[in-house]
Amino acid sequence: MTTESPTLVALIGRPNVGKSTLFNRMTRRRDAIVDPTPGVTRDRHYARITWEEHPFVLVDTGGIDDEDDTITGHIREQASRAIDEADLVLFLMDGRQGLTPSDAEIVDMLRRTEKKVFFVVNKIDSPELELELLSPFWELGVDKLWPLSADHGYGYRSLMDGLVEYLEKTEVSLDLPEDTIKLAFLGRPNVGKSSMINRIIGEERMVVSDIAGTTRDAVDTLLSRDKYNYLLIDTAGIRRKGKTRDKLEKFSILKALGSLARCDIALVLIDAEEGITEQDTKIIGYTQEQGRAIILLINKWDLIKDDLKRQKWLMQEIELATNFIPFAPVLKVSAKTGYGVKRLFPEIGKVYRQFHARFPTAALNQLLADAVAHHSPPMYRGRRLKLYYTAQIKTAPPTFAVVANAPKGIHFSYQRYLTNRFREGLGLDRIPVRVVFKERS
Ligand code: GDP
Ligand code: GDP
Repeated sequence: MTTESPTLVALIGRPNVGKSTLFNRMTRRRDAIVDPTPGVTRDRHYARITWEEHPFVLVDTGGIDDEDDTITGHIREQASRAIDEADLVLFLMDGRQGLTPSDAEIVDMLRRTEKKVFFVVNKIDSPELELELLSPFWELGVDKLWPLSADHGYGYRSLMDGLVEYLEKTEVSLDLPEDTIKLAFLGRPNVGKSSMINRIIGEERMVVSDIAGTTRDAVDTLLSRDKYNYLLIDTAGIRRKGKTRDKLEKFSILKALGSLARCDIALVLIDAEEGITEQDTKIIGYTQEQGRAIILLINKWDLIKDDLKRQKWLMQEIELATNFIPFAPVLKVSAKTGYGVKRLFPEIGKVYRQFHARFPTAALNQLLADAVAHHSPPMYRGRRLKLYYTAQIKTAPPTFAVVANAPKGIHFSYQRYLTNRFREGLGLDRIPVRVVFKERS
């Protein structure tokens, strides 16, 4: 089995230069799948994209929170994040506005890095405008400028071709044993990620080998235990603590996104003593936007093991904060004492099997027919919604396409009903499951 590690592409630039317009153009879906889940498809700042069979993860850093409110400070922060963590940077400037001092400052910063940077001048809406609008930017002294109209599409093909050319040169794929289960450890700083990884690696019967070069500077770890193989995906260099760690931690969200894109299961650690925080739920949200399986690990359980009141309160709090992932297994663990770690691998096995399960079409159609007979779809614009048939279109997570006469008319509540019927009928109780609707062609 080979696995690609998608390149992390960061989109940076001042507000209003057109980052989200470009983001939307790059992520625009070309297929006819309609996914009416509210809040999931809109308002996204990163996405997994495959362009001519080259996968990459696109991040609009303008959409990620940071601490600096001033515009130059804000963009400087974006840029240093991108330099630290992305593999490739798209720096957008505004051709209509012309070159600004803050652009020049950021270009200076970007030029000093080893990272590949595409300097893009946006809002060049037609070829006739190119000469006039692009020329002020040559003052920057960069080798290449990419003229673009994110809005109208001028220059878009060339930019994407340039991107793909770069991706082709840098993609690494590694040979992993068949059915390797890919795990990413996520969580706030100090929640115990590296302690947990070390605890797991130190387990009996565990055969450990480092896999270098999955991305530019990450070192993943391959574990073999009994007859199973696991890849521990390096997130933000958690096993290589060093001087740069604080800086990395601050911006670790990008790395976390990169490792999420590569994993089957996200193991999200929560600190039993501190409880679940907004940042924890945000991380969990990212895992679900990416459709990953998830297991919650309540770490440092040793610190509250004698405090029954605290335990009860904590579990209630976690249940409430994670009610959007009721399927996620929750394990109480301690990286320090090893408590609960033995139960982790059997749980990972169950989750993984569900995540990659495939179902025969005949059984799925029977399930759909039963679900519709039990609770028929509502009317839409005066006619009855009809669901004709269904098939599994992918695994990881299992995704079922239902062909309908008016996919846009299917309400979220009916989608949820169907998803739950599929989930129950197929025994998928531990993982996210997706049901999407397609027009009959
Ligand atoms: P962001 O803040 O960098 O994400 O910028 P947006 O994508 O929100 O764009 C800011 C404004 O610039 C919006 O009004 C867009 O419609 C406009 N815009 C974006 N791209 C182009 C373009 O290629 N040409 C023109 N003329 N306007 C654009
Ligand atoms: P990371 O930043 O998420 O990788 O967290 P670390 O693994 O560096 O752990 C942060 C701190 O929490 C260290 O001082 C660990 O010794 C401590 N720690 C980690 N796991 C546990 C645990 O299960 N129980 C207790 N009591 N402390 C822990």
